[in-house]
This record gives sequence, C-alpha cells and structure tokens, in this order.
Amino acid sequence: MPVLRERLIEALGSDAVKTAPEDLAVYAFDAYLDGGRPSAVTLPRSTRDVCAIVKIARDCGEPIVARGAGTGLCGGAVPKVGGVVLSFARMNRVLEFDERHRRARVQPGLVNLDLTRHAASSGLFYAPDPSSQQISSLGGNIATNAGGPHCLSYGTTVNHVLGLEVVDANGEVFTTALDDAGYDLTAAMVGSEGTLGIVTSAWLRLLALPESVRVGVAAFDDIDAASEAVSAIIAAGILPTALEMMDDVITAAVEAAFHAGYPTEAAAVLLIENAGFEEDVGASEAAIQAIVTRHGARSWRSARNQAERDVLWAGRKSAAGATGRIAPNYYTQDVCVPRSRLPQALRAVGAASRANGITVGNVFHAGDGNLHPLLMYDRRDEKQVAAVVATGNEILQTAIDLGGTISGEHGIGWEKRDAMTRIYSTDDLATMARVRDVFDPARMLNPEKIFPRGVQCAEVVPP
Ligand SMILES: Cc1cc2nc3c(=O)[nH]c(=O)nc-3n(C[C@H](O)[C@H](O)[C@H](O)COP(=O)(O)OP(=O)(O)OC[C@H]3O[C@@H](n4cnc5c(N)ncnc54)[C@H](O)[C@@H]3O)c2cc1C
Repeated sequence: MPVLRERLIEALGSDAVKTAPEDLAVYAFDAYLDGGRPSAVTLPRSTRDVCAIVKIARDCGEPIVARGAGTGLCGGAVPKVGGVVLSFARMNRVLEFDERHRRARVQPGLVNLDLTRHAASSGLFYAPDPSSQQISSLGGNIATNAGGPHCLSYGTTVNHVLGLEVVDANGEVFTTALDDAGYDLTAAMVGSEGTLGIVTSAWLRLLALPESVRVGVAAFDDIDAASEAVSAIIAAGILPTALEMMDDVITAAVEAAFHAGYPTEAAAVLLIENAGFEEDVGASEAAIQAIVTRHGARSWRSARNQAERDVLWAGRKSAAGATGRIAPNYYTQDVCVPRSRLPQALRAVGAASRANGITVGNVFHAGDGNLHPLLMYDRRDEKQVAAVVATGNEILQTAIDLGGTISGEHGIGWEKRDAMTRIYSTDDLATMARVRDVFDPARMLNPEKIFPRGVQCAEVVPP
C-alpha cells in the first residue's frame, strides 16, 4: 500500500498513520469473536483530518471504517474486507459546555462516563449509560444507538442527540440539528453503524441530577418469579429509572471478584433504582417492595447511602468482566423480547445452553425485555466455539418466536447481518439499502455490515 501510506502520512504526519503488522493487529478485533485486518490505521485530530482521510481512502479504493473504543459486540468496527480504520482516540474533548441550555458539544472519541464527570460540578449528567460506559466512546454510542440500565426511563442514545457534525462518503462535512425542517437526519445517523457517515462532533442533551436516588436489591429463589415481578412493576404504572436482573451464575462471579453485596444464595436478583423528587422516590420504592414481596421475593435490601449505591452499580457494570473467573472467553448475545415473555425466554436460554453443554450467565436490562445471556467458553477449543455459535443462534430464534427482535442495543454489524432476513422481507431490506445508497452510493463506508450477504445481498441491491 505505498501510495495509500504515503498520502496519509503527507496529510496527517507519520505519528497519525499506522501500517506496521503489530499495530494493525490491535485494530483487527472488537469485542466480538471474529476479526479482519485493516490496510492502515489513522488517528485523526480534527474534522479536517477526517475529511482528508476519507478522500484519500476513496481515491485509493479503500473502504473506510470508523472506530471508537472497540467495545462493540457485533463486529461493527472490524474491517472485514480491509480498508482504512479511523480511530477517534485523539478526538476526545468536550468542545463546548452550555450549562444554561443543558447541552455539550463533544468529539466522538470522548469516553461516555467522562461527559458525566465533566458535567457533575454543574449538577448535570448524560443519561445513556451502557455498561461499557467507563470505556466506550460517544461516537460509538451514537453509531450503535447504545442503551444501558437507565434507558428504561430516560430512553436510548437517540433521545439525547441534539445535532451532529458528519463527514460524508465524499469527505465533505454536513451538519444536522433536531429543529431542522423536513426529515430528521439526526435520528437517521444514530444507529447507522458508520454506514451513512462519520460523526466528528455531537451536541448532546444533559439532564439535571435527581434530588434523590434509591437503589434496592430483591432476591428470589426462582427466576420465573423474578421475571414475573418485573412485568408486575411496570404493569402497576411504576417506571423505575433502572430495573436490572442477574442470575446466580453472575452474582457468584461478581461477589467473588468485587464483593458488591449481592445475595449469592438467590436464584435471581433484581437491582432496582428509583430517582427523582424525594417524596416520589420513597413512594415508588415502597410500592415496588410490596410488589416483589407479593411475587415471592425472599428479601429486599435498600442501599443506605451513595457509597453503597456505587458499590451495587459497580458490581452490575463489571459483571461481564467478572465472568473471567468462570471461563477464558464469553460471547454476549443481545436479543429483545416483550417483557411479559421473559420467563419463557429465560427458560429457553437455559435449555439451549444445557443442550449444547455451555455455561450461561444472565445479566440484563429486564425492564426493557433486553436479554444478554453471557455464554462462557474457551476460544482455543473449536468444539466449544461451535457450541457457543449454536446456542447463540437458538437464542436468537427464540426471541423472534416470542415476538421479540434480534438486537436490543448492540447493533447488527457483521455478526447479525444474515439474521436480518429472519425479521425483514427482501423489500424491507431493499428500502434500507436505498437509504444507505443515498449517503454512500459506492458503499465504501463500513461495507459488509448490517446488510445480509449471499442471495439476499444480491436481492437487496437496488436497480
Ligand atoms: C462489557 C460490555 C458491556 C456493554 N454494555 C452495553 C450496554 O449496556 N448497552 C449497549 O448499548 N452496549 C453495550 N456494550 C456494547 C458496546 O459497548 C456499545 O455498542 C458501544 O456503543 C460501542 O462503543 P465503542 O466506542 O466501543 O464503538 P466501536 O466498537 O469502536 O464501534 C461501534 C460501531 O460504531 C461505529 N463508529 C464508531 N465511531 C464512529 C463515528 N465517530 N462515526 C460513525 N461511526 C462510528 C463503528 O464503525 C462500529 O460500527 C457493551 C460492551 C461490553 C464489552
């Protein structure tokens, strides 16, 4: 790639261009199973750099793959057919902070939690909080429309993006804003997984920190009873700010690693947060406590102070890492089912993993019906890899059969592109492909993602 490399170095300087094999290897994977080697990795410092990279890559016939922190779980940031990776690690600043209008303009490489840290002294926070918020980037969150524990009440990323600066497939800049007349292009960009444009800055909504926050833990002897309690809470018209479930495999791993104070003798634990005005929060918590007790909770414990709340949340958000004590690798499935079907879904997850000989742990956003079975395995053992793929596939089909869908929040990427045909018709996919082709007719932006391959792929190519 001498021409590509020389042109990139000329435009960006040699410290912003990586082509050594050992450097490229670092960008070959995200948090999914499967990788792909880039031709070059670039580290832009500005929107102008991004424009230059896109133009050079296009001239050289190289695909363009944006990358935030690489925590994506569906192979989205992986250059499957090679190409130039744009890593946003150096574009990680808060550009403007507008306390009066409760908003901030950020660069895409800013880590999610750093925005809340930045806003805290003004009594504000950024609501979408994926469990990866300590490492994932806001650009990646926007491109995947990330969810998280608090999205039950605050909504996902799309509800918090006020406007975007985007570099298009020709290397030109355009901007979007919520109050634009006509089509809402801000929402179209959110969740488009780097296939419609490259986000180079974003105006994000900030919210006022609540007056009061309470976090309680309910322990159940039976996972079905816990699932039914989740439905009952929402059916009663109560909307906690977060409603998370963990099974005994996960609580045991978390307790061994972090000592968060979860009851390890229970089959399932609900972590329930209420936030708002003190009076409302107290009333919601009392009503929830009554409901979970009616549904067979063996115990309820409220965190007494901020330190205890922090420990409970740290345990929940570190749950995936804690499974390292069980197996060297885990695969996270991401499906969504109607809340009322949680008991059937969890039973089916258990059955599929037992049938394939895989240990499964469940830690998920129960209030949203968003399941995340963690399938534990050893990547070095081909049989275990095959068993994990089979189990993941069965769980996917279960979600569809129960009236759910194939991704709750992680996106489609490379992993689930073929599964798109299970929920969309050829016409549906052709319509989506036409939208993509308006933005990127040459299909240079993150190719091989979202759209299915093979026969279906040919069918979705518009005339
Ligand atoms: C332990 C763990 C817990 C997780 N918990 C959650 C959770 O609770 N909720 C959730 O939604 N996800 C979760 N995830 C998945 C992942 O963290 C999210 O999908 C996150 O939004 C990805 O951000 P990233 O910066 O790592 O993006 P990457 O993985 O680098 O990229 C993700 C996608 O975004 C595109 N992209 C990145 N930056 C840009 C840009 N500037 N412009 C255009 N496209 C871009 C990439 O091309 C790719 O398609 C979790 C992952 C892990 C490992």
